Amino acid sequence: DPALAQQEEDLYTRGLVDLIRQHRPDILLAGATSLGRSFIPRVAAILETGLTAGCTALEIAPESKLLLQTRPTYGGNLIATIICPEKRPQMVTVRPHAFKRGELDELRQGEVIRVDFDKESVTSRTKILHLLEDLTERVKLEEADIIICGGRGLGKAENFQMIAELAEVLHAALGSSRPPVDDGWIPYSHQVGQTGKTVSPKLYIACGVSGAPQHLAGMQTSEIVIAINEDPQAPIFEVATYGIVGDLFKIVPMLTAKLKQIRS
Ligand SMILES: Cc1cc2nc3c(=O)[nH]c(=O)nc-3n(C[C@H](O)[C@H](O)[C@H](O)COP(=O)(O)OP(=O)(O)OC[C@H]3O[C@@H](n4cnc5c(N)ncnc54)[C@H](O)[C@@H]3O)c2cc1C
Repeated sequence: DPALAQQEEDLYTRGLVDLIRQHRPDILLAGATSLGRSFIPRVAAILETGLTAGCTALEIAPESKLLLQTRPTYGGNLIATIICPEKRPQMVTVRPHAFKRGELDELRQGEVIRVDFDKESVTSRTKILHLLEDLTERVKLEEADIIICGGRGLGKAENFQMIAELAEVLHAALGSSRPPVDDGWIPYSHQVGQTGKTVSPKLYIACGVSGAPQHLAGMQTSEIVIAINEDPQAPIFEVATYGIVGDLFKIVPMLTAKLKQIRS
């Protein structure tokens, strides 16, 4: 419906609440995207049911058949498994890329039911005036096959240019740990981790990132991780496929120059 083309949360909320009341599902799964994070809690509040936001694992309990909803908590220091035994639906949002994409199984067919949206019955309290594009994001972080991530080890905003050059040669997206975002070196849309984006690229190159649990929560399903860090004890090496112990200000330009040479 054209009325739903833009992110109108009041309309989405009312539409989904009506559908849930009509179809009475046992479980409702949604993406913990900016849209899901924004309107799914409103749906749960109206239905007076529980919601576990930002799950990283889901399972059905063998006996009770309840949905086991697992997510990091207390700043990533604990992993909690939560159940919603009484209220329905059991609602969760799931972090994008927290799960590897499954193989297509032609035998398992779902039924798609198309429903009409009655926009006359709802009024939106918000109005979108205009949308701004993030001009710093050349390759979308969530969709990138390769991500070059900079951490506090870069030292200052200007040094992001050095890893941006490496990203350009590899057609990679630029990621960041939280401190550079907090210090205003790079916009929030680049942040990887518990309070940023969850990514799962084929190759993740972490430059000057220590590997705090809150950062690992956002990138540990990457296929190959290369860590460049001068501290051999840095926790990032525990999840790295390949580790380079050394000064990133020497290693990154060498890598960029070598790749440029190979490409030309
Ligand atoms: C509730 C909560 C949520 C959080 N969410 C996030 C999140 O979403 N994402 C996130 O990233 N963090 C998050 N954090 C912060 C997290 O705890 C860490 O503080 C952060 O990840 C550290 O970032 P860093 O690795 O860039 O910096 P540091 O931990 O300071 O590490 C910098 C690294 O650079 C290395 N280094 C320095 N100079 C060089 C050099 N010249 N060459 C090579 N290596 C060098 C150092 O050895 C060090 O290992 C969160 C924290 C909390 C409490």
